[in-house]
Amino acid sequence: MLTVNAYAATAATDPLAPATIDRRDVGPHDVLIEIKYAGICHSDIHTVRGEWGPASYPLVPGHEIAGIVAEVGSAVTKHAVGERVGVGCMVDSCRECDNCRKGEEQYCIPGNILTYAGIGRDGQVTQGGYSTHIVVTEDFVVKIPEGIPLDAAAPLLCAGITTYSPLRHWGAGPGRHVAVVGLGGLGHMAVKIAHAMGAEVTVLSQSLKKQDDGLRLGADHYYATSDPETFRALAGTFDLIVNTVSAAVDLNAFVSLLALDGALVNVGAPPEPMAINAFSLILRRRSFAGSNIGGIRETQEMLDFCAEHGIGSEIELIGADQINEAWERVLASDVRYRFVIDTATLTPAQA
Ligand code: NAP
Ligand code: ZN
Ligand code: ZN
Repeated sequence: MLTVNAYAATAATDPLAPATIDRRDVGPHDVLIEIKYAGICHSDIHTVRGEWGPASYPLVPGHEIAGIVAEVGSAVTKHAVGERVGVGCMVDSCRECDNCRKGEEQYCIPGNILTYAGIGRDGQVTQGGYSTHIVVTEDFVVKIPEGIPLDAAAPLLCAGITTYSPLRHWGAGPGRHVAVVGLGGLGHMAVKIAHAMGAEVTVLSQSLKKQDDGLRLGADHYYATSDPETFRALAGTFDLIVNTVSAAVDLNAFVSLLALDGALVNVGAPPEPMAINAFSLILRRRSFAGSNIGGIRETQEMLDFCAEHGIGSEIELIGADQINEAWERVLASDVRYRFVIDTATLTPAQA
């Protein structure tokens, strides 16, 4: 067992604090990763604050992990010491159900093992990436191509794959009009990736404050959702809308922006239910869908795509002592566009 430095939540709303956690011994199929960078995802906050259900504490969040392989188990064939690797939202799955067999482990029928706040094979609550090391079975570790700096790669492990997967599934590409709702961590990745796929990209943000950034990231158009004229001007125009907003929104307003056969795909995961008007779907054969991260094979495909297109996340690198402030800024939509923790700043808890 390895005892490592981490940053942990001890209750739903108390500030996070330095902690130490134990990592299991490296088994035959395991990889020990020295974590270099960990992204802060809004899901970390939903989870710790108990918005998705009760959480157990202490809890170390973090599922956007980039680091270097420090040790491999005796039977490991996929990874070697010194390699640049990443871990996302899952650390294992049943591997046998129909969805796992298709490479869609994110939809594992009995349920995959989440990187944190899940129950590991040892029966213990899993602890995530706000820490210096993690032990993960080799099949759930992906390779980070040389072309992407490690710090800018970390957010790809959740924000990148969560937007890449629906953009691919719903066919974002040349001739397709794609809108991205919310320019935060997921939203800015959706803009970069949809642009690289060749789609015509529109950002729908609460205001025009981040318009220059949005256009620089690859958007062709930028509108404020606070302006009712936006909904009149864009009615019936999009083939695909990816909603990344972390709070409940008026879905019917966004459905009205879809063209014939258009799809509104929710990746934002607010705990509250959202009403949808059947007629707004019926009258243009529109659909409303959701999408959960992506499978391991697709995550590797996404990383290779990002390297090929020179895509990383726009990050603000922070030390451990800035984590609590960063969470508040995420809650205030004051993030450009992902906070990433430099894990070298994780120091032992004060006795
Ligand atoms: P984030 O960085 O906080 O971005 C969310 C953006 O939504 C904000 O930047 C803001 O953009 C907009 N927004 C926030 N509150 C709003 C409100 N009340 N009304 C309208 N717009 C609002 O969060 P994130 O890390 O990208 O995560 C976004 C959501 O996706 C979270 O709910 C998270 O849990 C979820 N998620 C889902 C998956 C999945 O697999 N489905 C994976 C990861 C995350 P503007 O300032 O541009 O308006
Ligand atoms: Zn996430
Ligand atoms: Zn499964």
